[in-house]
Amino acid sequence: MENDCVFCKIINKEIPSDIIYENENVIVFKDINPKAEIHLLIVSKKHLVNLNEAGENDKELLAELFLTAKKVAQQLNLINKGYKLVLNVGRGAGQAIDHLHLHLLSGSFNHPLNEI
Ligand code: AMP
Repeated sequence: MENDCVFCKIINKEIPSDIIYENENVIVFKDINPKAEIHLLIVSKKHLVNLNEAGENDKELLAELFLTAKKVAQQLNLINKGYKLVLNVGRGAGQAIDHLHLHLLSGSFNHPLNEI
């Protein structure tokens, strides 16, 4: 838990979010400013700034983020339709929230990929 981290506050239910799925390691909620018809965030409960901070000990967590994306995609019937996963690493890549997360996007896109 980082004091000023928005995603830590969502994880701790200190600020509201539209939660789709949750277990002890990950949480999935709707992006507040969707860039596609479906735009979810798959978020590690452990506070890591981004992929650069992940180490050998985080292998299972990283795998779980991707497998959770697939699980949620299955629940939303996106397997045949298709979906995109985006992982921004650093300001230069557009990362605004310093807490490891995957974007899951599907349907019509409101923004070009480099603005997600
Ligand atoms: P990134 O640019 O990869 O760091 O993505 C951060 C994402 O978090 C953006 O798409 C924001 O729209 C989204 N976001 C920021 N604050 C919230 C919030 N309180 N609830 C849900 N999504 C949020």
